[in-house]
Amino acid sequence: MEREKPAADTITFLGTGGARIMVASQILASGGIWLNLDGTEILVDPGPGSIVQSTKRKLRADKLSAIILSHRHLDHAADANIMVEAMTQGGFKRRGKLFAPADAFEGEPVVFSYLRSYLEGIEVLEEGKTYSVDNISFTTPLRHIHPVETYGMIFKTGKHTFSYIADTRYFDGLIQHYGGDLLILNVVFLAPLPIDHLSMPDAKHIIMELKPKVAILTHFGMRTWQAHPWEIAENLSQETGIKVLAARDGMKFDLAKLDTVG
Ligand SMILES: [Zn+2]
Repeated sequence: MEREKPAADTITFLGTGGARIMVASQILASGGIWLNLDGTEILVDPGPGSIVQSTKRKLRADKLSAIILSHRHLDHAADANIMVEAMTQGGFKRRGKLFAPADAFEGEPVVFSYLRSYLEGIEVLEEGKTYSVDNISFTTPLRHIHPVETYGMIFKTGKHTFSYIADTRYFDGLIQHYGGDLLILNVVFLAPLPIDHLSMPDAKHIIMELKPKVAILTHFGMRTWQAHPWEIAENLSQETGIKVLAARDGMKFDLAKLDTVG
């Protein structure tokens, strides 16, 4: 009798663009990151075009178990409403969870109130808490420094642990919590600017400190894109001795690759 094949852990980048100028141009897409972890599908940061990028790739929102917003900025949350509606089959099926920081639900909520009843649950992200989605857990270890309440995440599947460092300025204490075999980093800028985003020198420092098996750079601003992120990643690989990749729109990363990296 054949054994049932265990489900793979994959990460699909529905966009690699970040910050206002790039996202307005859509030279790089901004649809977020679609996780398929041991059969559980989770969408992180559905920016503008998430519905277009996901349907184009035959990823089905009605299979999602959760949508997670690292923060309320448009390039991370603009398609949250349509993705909630799609996840719940137009609201006809009450299902799925939405996770976001408290300020995403206050003042001008990023998700319309009429959509909330479609969801199986809404959970507010807080510093140092762990959440579960079916067989997957994730932790939001600390609040980032960014103009709105923002968290990165550490995901744990049956087989893998990986971190996603969402938008932030670099600060002491940022990285001590983020571990795992894979590190996904939102790196908007080439060089440091007085704006609350990571730059390439920050990325190099973080990768050297955390020493993941693989690091994937994404969320590129216009100048970073013009400087060819894949070349920057190649240089960083050589400088750090750690495999660094630049995400591409539509790139699907299979976490099984981590098992073969020394
Ligand atoms: Zn942001």
